[in-house]
Amino acid sequence: MLIVPEREIANLMTRQAAFEAVEKVFAAMAAGDAYNFPVVREAIGHEDALYGFKGGFDRAGLTLGLKAGGYWPNNLEKRGLINHQSTVFLFDPDTGKVKAMVGGNLLTALRTAAASSVSIKHLARPDARVLGMVGAGHQATFQLRAALEQRSFDKVIGWNYHPEMLPNIQKVADEAGVPFETVELNGMRQADVIISITSAFAPSLMADHVAPGCHVACMGTDTKGKQEVEAALLARATVFTDEVAQSVQIGEAQHAVAQGLIAESDVTQIGAVINGTHPGRDSDDQITLFDGTGVGLQDLAVAASVVDLAVQQGIAITVDF
Ligand code: NAD
Repeated sequence: MLIVPEREIANLMTRQAAFEAVEKVFAAMAAGDAYNFPVVREAIGHEDALYGFKGGFDRAGLTLGLKAGGYWPNNLEKRGLINHQSTVFLFDPDTGKVKAMVGGNLLTALRTAAASSVSIKHLARPDARVLGMVGAGHQATFQLRAALEQRSFDKVIGWNYHPEMLPNIQKVADEAGVPFETVELNGMRQADVIISITSAFAPSLMADHVAPGCHVACMGTDTKGKQEVEAALLARATVFTDEVAQSVQIGEAQHAVAQGLIAESDVTQIGAVINGTHPGRDSDDQITLFDGTGVGLQDLAVAASVVDLAVQQGIAITVDF
């Protein structure tokens, strides 16, 4: 069995490798070669923690396993640990033997950023120049860094519910040498691409804040009840997702579907666009929206990729298990 500790991930995994792994597994999902197992998520009644498993099998990539982990809200204050904790376990699909254990914390941020980047690559207008950010927390910095590599953006505009957090994303824009501007939400009409990555339970971005032709990646809503954008925006947009079942149950589409504004059949897996079985964007005026709910197969894909890199570089720890 191989172990790749959390401390090694930053030096091993690249944004490019995460992008390729996620794009490939989205394609496999749409082709019917990969599927996610039902998600388990439980409030364990200890330390206010939410714990669960996300798993799946990719027959094309021969990746089988699960991510175990969740959210411990007291970690930072009580123990100086980050609140999100996760570990990926990979198994040999030929034998069922455990193959690898991989730190999943940084990988989660990288695979989530890779998902919105894949959506930008396949759905944003090629001439997109202004990137809008709604959210400025931990994930937002990864999202912005990855998105800037997808188009020749010449400006980043940002809004956050807690304005004092905006310097987090300004720093990323500064490092990339792209001018940054703080805007009110109606200023988002300048944006050609908007990434929303907040933990909100009520919408901030309304349909009228989004201009025709924009691509919106909604990345924060991964639980029942969370909501980042007005449901009417989904009715106005062509909606794509990582996985339709998750999108309509725990993703941003849950609200538009519940209100009868769109049907489950209006939501398309992005893998179909990657595979060329769906045309994707069909005009410069169309609003495209990606509902990124986060699937276990993304975690397995990036973990498998990092195990390969760790073996190549002699960093993986081998344990006789
Ligand atoms: P964080 O705590 O670091 O940041 C939270 C962000 O949400 C901040 O920008 C904050 O200002 C904003 N926010 C908080 N309350 C708000 C409100 N009422 N209205 C509007 N904005 C509000 O969290 P994070 O680690 O950056 O995670 C952000 C979200 O992304 C969470 O909901 C998390 O569960 C989700 N997430 C999704 C995936 C996925 O695959 N889709 C993966 C990881 C995390």
